[in-house]
Amino acid sequence: MGRFDGRVVVVTGAARGIGFGTATRFAEEGASVAILDLDEASAAEAAAKLPLTDGAKSVGIGCDVSDAASAEAAVERVVSELGGIHVLVNNAGITRDNLLFKMSEEDWDLVMNVHLRGAFLMTKAAQKHFVEQKYGKILNLSSVSALGNRGQANYSAAKMGIQGLTRTLGIELGPFGINANAIAPGFIATEMTDATARRLKMEPEQLREMTAQANPVRRVGYPEDIAAAAAFLCSDEASYITGQTLYVDGGAKLG
Ligand code: NAP
Repeated sequence: MGRFDGRVVVVTGAARGIGFGTATRFAEEGASVAILDLDEASAAEAAAKLPLTDGAKSVGIGCDVSDAASAEAAVERVVSELGGIHVLVNNAGITRDNLLFKMSEEDWDLVMNVHLRGAFLMTKAAQKHFVEQKYGKILNLSSVSALGNRGQANYSAAKMGIQGLTRTLGIELGPFGINANAIAPGFIATEMTDATARRLKMEPEQLREMTAQANPVRRVGYPEDIAAAAAFLCSDEASYITGQTLYVDGGAKLG
């Protein structure tokens, strides 16, 4: 028996990377899973690859989380196609790095809109169902960059905003049987960090090696590391944990 048998899990930005790794873990543990991503074809392709258990279903849905109508329509489609919604993982993300004096207003708004407005809109759409059924789990993706990171004023502000949002969701929604937590990953090997390497004029492998050497546990993280923590925080074993941000970073920000 899996921890998520009979549950419906939605993961945004899950066509690849941490989102796909997390969706895979929920599927392995019995859930029906909806993969939301900007491009419906990529979302559907990823959904078809999930290791579903008997009786579980998956669907890929095109959705821009920063758009209210798109977020609402996606949640309603999940409910009608998978028969409900129990877990929401707000994972969709982008970076538009630049030093403050060179950062455009457009890049500020884009990053804030996908991460912070996106988590707000998706949560608002899902909470209606959660409150009605007196059950729901919300997991938001923050980042170690929330603590400050050169060249990421937009991203770090959005990721710290996510932590404030998570605490407030914990307070407001706790009485309705809903838990809200966040994970703040350190360096996770995905296309997002590969793009960072290229921006720094390095090979992705070179940046991973350098980052691993500077990390207390001497390795970089992988989507599976985040997926394991996500599954725990969204399970009923964690029902007395809410409003928290768990740093999953190999100790990168310890001292
Ligand atoms: P990724 O590989 O770049 O994947 C992000 C996914 O989100 C992509 O499939 C992307 O679609 C999708 N997306 C972007 N904008 C969207 C929107 N408006 N609506 C719906 N989907 C959208 O990134 P990742 O590394 O897996 O990161 C996942 C999350 O973890 C992000 O929130 C990120 O900030 C956070 N995080 C990552 C790291 C890391 O080291 N990788 C560290 C800390 C936190 P497109 O391909 O079409 O753009």
